[in-house]
Amino acid sequence: MATVSYIPNDPLASGGPPIQQVRASRQPSKSAGFDIQPAAEPGIYPAQTPEFGFWQVQEALIKGLKVWRDADGAYPEAWFGGQRRLRVLTDAGDDLNAFYDRRSLQFFHHTFDGQRVHSSESVDVAVHEEGHALLDMLRPDFFDVPFIEVGALHESFGDCIAILAALSDRAIRESLVADSPDLSAKHFVQAMAEQLGDAIRREYGDAAVEDGALRNASNTFSWSDPTMLPPGGPATVLSGEVHSFSRVFTGAFYDALRNMYLNTGNRSAVSLNRAARTLGKLLISGVRSVPATPRTFEGVGRRMVEADVAGNGGANAAAIRTAFAAHGMTLPAPAIEMPVPLKRRTRGGAAAELREELEVPSGTRLQYTPVSSDIHGEVTHVAAFRPMQLTEGELTGVRLLVPAVAEVRTRGRSVTGVIGEIRPADQQIENEGRAFARALLANGDIRTVPGTAAGAAEPPRRRTRGARPGGTQAGVVGPTPPRPAFAPFPPTHEIRVIGGEPTLTRVGFSGRRR
Ligand SMILES: [Zn+2]
Repeated sequence: MATVSYIPNDPLASGGPPIQQVRASRQPSKSAGFDIQPAAEPGIYPAQTPEFGFWQVQEALIKGLKVWRDADGAYPEAWFGGQRRLRVLTDAGDDLNAFYDRRSLQFFHHTFDGQRVHSSESVDVAVHEEGHALLDMLRPDFFDVPFIEVGALHESFGDCIAILAALSDRAIRESLVADSPDLSAKHFVQAMAEQLGDAIRREYGDAAVEDGALRNASNTFSWSDPTMLPPGGPATVLSGEVHSFSRVFTGAFYDALRNMYLNTGNRSAVSLNRAARTLGKLLISGVRSVPATPRTFEGVGRRMVEADVAGNGGANAAAIRTAFAAHGMTLPAPAIEMPVPLKRRTRGGAAAELREELEVPSGTRLQYTPVSSDIHGEVTHVAAFRPMQLTEGELTGVRLLVPAVAEVRTRGRSVTGVIGEIRPADQQIENEGRAFARALLANGDIRTVPGTAAGAAEPPRRRTRGARPGGTQAGVVGPTPPRPAFAPFPPTHEIRVIGGEPTLTRVGFSGRRR
């Protein structure tokens, strides 16, 4: 059997397993998969080579697929847009980052002080990016929702899946339980992307990353309204930047894991495995059913508790609620919301009624994202976007599309009822959109900032990677300004002409903040 070299967690994981030889894994044939480039034959390769990079990423992504299968019951069938295979570039250029853009996962390298760092060599980073792809497959409606918490949930989800991937390795669980029986120590499993964090610290200074890692899941960050937070700032404080704010949810997730594990009363690697697998199921159940409203963290937490009540008799409800409370989020008591029937049952009649309740013009396109929920059965998330004008600095004259959302119960093609509240794109939604845009601007996360709306309407000058939006004149517009030294690459957003208007649009998700 072919053997390859593999680093099981992160090249700089403190106390983590060193590079070792493992049996070369094959991508599961029943799963949507990855086309990793450049490819390499199995073999023992030294780190920092393209051949090593191939097998390192292959092993990491397979781990992530298995986490998904264990949590969701089956491998993913297709990525966003029905793609059976997602391209993976193990070395897409010079930067300290990684990226998901709906068509590919991209990893970057950087050399400093004669040392070279490849973000593809960290299982944390590879699985984090895979997490974006998995969440985008499950909830494509999240992609363009311009709320800090929705973006931060995407970032946190990647880190949560990376933690579960680490815990799916028996040797890692055993070493963790031996080192920190109550999981309270700052160990390498809760530390995300240590090597990338170290490189970013050397390049950009101490304020750019947390102590000892890019991010720590074992943290004390407490929720506060992200629209009121500074749009950016040092890693030690919470800001409206999505990676920064993601740490609140990841902290609650990690504490839930610890509480559930400690509740078993048996501090063993076996108990830890059971807690991690149960929590993975609850997390996916929560993100599946949560509507894309501004308060998604609490929304997911509440649905995790509901899923636990429905599936486990509520055995973990207190553990989850305590964990969220420790991060400033009070979860309401679990309650199953019964669907409220619509007056008009046909798809067309229901759509007209939904548009009225969503308070959008009659021609507005309704975007349907069907999901099946453990609790509610066949459920579809409905979103209707409407434009608002940004007035934030250089974004003045640029449009932002903000969603009104509803969650509906479906049977076949007919909508049979509405679950919970219908959320029109009101003033609060606009405030959320503005705060999100301010954070993007402050963090250099927008590829092109045109001087004026008129300037933005020039024809595209540069093609980009990434999925095209639905607009007819989509493309990058205006001159591309020099990239600020601190800005991560590629930027997550750009200005595209959609419907004849310059519009702030997401390109993808990156692995880190500035
Ligand atoms: Zn990310």
